[in-house]
Amino acid sequence: MEAPEKDKKSLNFIENIIEEDIKNGKNDSRVHTRFPPEPNGYLHIGHAKSICLNFGLAEKYNGKCNLRFDDTNPTKEEMEYVDSIKADVQWLGFQWNEEPFFASDYFEQLYEWAVLLIKKGKAYVDDQSQELISQQRGTPTRPGTMSPHRNRSVEENLELFEAMKRGDFPNGAKVLRAKIDMASPNMHMRDPVMYRILNAEHHRTGNKWKIYPMYDYAHGQSDYLEGITHSLCTLEFEVHRPLYDWFLDQLIDSSYRPRQIEFARLNLSYTVMSKRKLLDLVKQNIVNGWDDPRMPTIAGLRRRGYTPASIRAFADRIGVAKRDNTIDVGLLEFSVREDLNKIAPRVMAVLDPVKLVISNYPENQTEEITLINNPEDPEAGSRNIPFSGELFIERDDFMIDPPKKFFRLAPDKEVRLKGAYVIRCERYELDEKGEVKTIFCSYDHDTKSGSGSKQVKVKGTLHWVEAKTAVDAEVRLYDRLFNDEDPAGHKDKDFMAFLNPDSLQIKSNCKLEPMLANVSAGDKFQFQRIGYFCVDKDSMPGSLIYNRTVPLKDIWARMNS
Ligand code: ATP
Ligand code: MG
Repeated sequence: MEAPEKDKKSLNFIENIIEEDIKNGKNDSRVHTRFPPEPNGYLHIGHAKSICLNFGLAEKYNGKCNLRFDDTNPTKEEMEYVDSIKADVQWLGFQWNEEPFFASDYFEQLYEWAVLLIKKGKAYVDDQSQELISQQRGTPTRPGTMSPHRNRSVEENLELFEAMKRGDFPNGAKVLRAKIDMASPNMHMRDPVMYRILNAEHHRTGNKWKIYPMYDYAHGQSDYLEGITHSLCTLEFEVHRPLYDWFLDQLIDSSYRPRQIEFARLNLSYTVMSKRKLLDLVKQNIVNGWDDPRMPTIAGLRRRGYTPASIRAFADRIGVAKRDNTIDVGLLEFSVREDLNKIAPRVMAVLDPVKLVISNYPENQTEEITLINNPEDPEAGSRNIPFSGELFIERDDFMIDPPKKFFRLAPDKEVRLKGAYVIRCERYELDEKGEVKTIFCSYDHDTKSGSGSKQVKVKGTLHWVEAKTAVDAEVRLYDRLFNDEDPAGHKDKDFMAFLNPDSLQIKSNCKLEPMLANVSAGDKFQFQRIGYFCVDKDSMPGSLIYNRTVPLKDIWARMNS
């Protein structure tokens, strides 16, 4: 099926290839992609790009997309990761074809194919250490050295490989190698290792196997076995492609082949993305687990308050490229701001409260103020919140001795309280430390928002929360985890040297409007004038925790301009 005419001009290079293949009736015009994570960590935003691409193309062309776990390395893989990966893919809004697939389901078939390669004289058992083998690989301009075991007889190879499988040898004692070309200009073709001995328990096959296939030996055949038509991967695998083709050419008679297409991986500024580095952050307790809201993991972004729609929009916006580049993390933040602007109810919250008393407001009186919930969403309706003569406002919305352009509250100055009245600051009191303790104001009853009889012009409008009904909460202000644009890109310094010491700031004494007490984990709001926030998963009635997703404006862009 071709995309409608109107979408044509925006086709990316992968879509162009797919549409050409469909037009030519290749693979009966089927489109079948796959997303093949190794379950050795949580998925990150780079994976999200790959997920959106693979599942998105399957959706667009009425095809299928498999979720396949590349679980060929038992020492690093765990069921916890398998479960988190499934949850993340579904949370992003995608559903895989049938059940998830596992490379480990093909261990038997891969083994039989390895035996077939030995019988054809295309694979041999090498007794040398992996270290020696890599030393003998040579360089791109200098041919490698042939192993002394390269010309073992088929019978001897079959026997030794069988013994490897039985578990007769310790780890590292032997490997099975493809017999290709030690002088190939492509280093990956210089008799690559196909199997290694690993006496390790596998999260699915248990202790059944003592030998495990290398990723490069398993990957192309896994694609083949699943009937994948377009196998999308990142650029570094371009040089592996001839090897994947070589294996299939030795093993398969039919003409069907998965077509590998390489695209540029996503790099984000101010972020590290390799799973090994993310694991370091978790293991060294730099962050609180894989779903710490500062992590670029999907679980972290979710906990931070990102929506699936915002991540999909981001993936769409950055598109697919053939050359590596780095995307400004500001673009990701822009995408979530754009989405939350549409859906997040506006509420009032004071993060750094100072008491404000309206001296001429009738004592013990409370009234209801009506505020609309979301100007971007007419369906969102409105709500009432209490107002009285005792309120909290933000500490930095008041200055004793303000500079000229300070349009907020100061002695003898007037401001409007959002949705309520215009007030004037009469005096203030300090505490023993010299900090402002209470601000005393007067109000003008005729200036009520919407219905007031007096039109008063003031330069500033402040958010506020009524004191007696205010809800207490802890608010966590998250910022970028690194203060360097490319923390992993320094030759002389470890990425940990660039941790942002202020990436988490906890405000433990926040005052929120009453409705923010009855919330569930994940609920999202715009705290007016401050930013977008969501309820943390550890939040409970009576001990509320809110996470800042993003400030309202890109403060980093302003700082750098
Ligand atoms: P890492 O290097 O962080 O360990 P990986 O590439 O080894 O990542 P896999 O689990 O093998 O992680 O990745 C699964 C799929 O996600 C692969 O197809 C890979 O190409 C893709 N992928 C991984 N990182 C990125 C990225 N930064 N941008 C786009 N796609 C990515
Ligand atoms: Mg990988």
